[in-house]
Amino acid sequence: MILHGGSIYGMIDTMDIYDRLDKRLNKTDTCWLWVGKSTDKNGYARIRVNGITELAHRISYTIYKGEIPKGIFVCHSCDVPGCCNPEHLWLGTNSDNMKDCSSKGRIRNGSTRKIECKRGHVYVDGSYYQYEGSSRRICKECILIRQRFYRKNGGN
Ligand SMILES: [Zn+2]
Ligand SMILES: [Zn+2]
Repeated sequence: MILHGGSIYGMIDTMDIYDRLDKRLNKTDTCWLWVGKSTDKNGYARIRVNGITELAHRISYTIYKGEIPKGIFVCHSCDVPGCCNPEHLWLGTNSDNMKDCSSKGRIRNGSTRKIECKRGHVYVDGSYYQYEGSSRRICKECILIRQRFYRKNGGN
């Protein structure tokens, strides 16, 4: 079970969990990357607290910044799911979180998925390029338009 919202203070030994969290983090200049074994399918770090599996970034937030109000999500400004740097964490409602994720293209099948490019060419199979590991799609039609434009204008 993963707790979503609600206080974990009073339930946990803060120093103990601080140590356990600290040992599993590679604190770089930017992100505090999770090097522990347990992650969920989205890459979020998990840690056990009092027999309950909790998301590590939520624990980090609670330790460094304070209580997470009930029903509130902890979102990443850096878009690195395993990151536990409290400076990269902010509180949002579920819809904030969804907006944040979808604006970065993480939600693949949600209704908020972009179905067309900014010129309105609908994305269908083969109508766009997508780099491996990136969710950004590049419209082929738009590339052609750009190429035609440059040819006409001599490329400068
Ligand atoms: Zn980060
Ligand atoms: Zn296009």
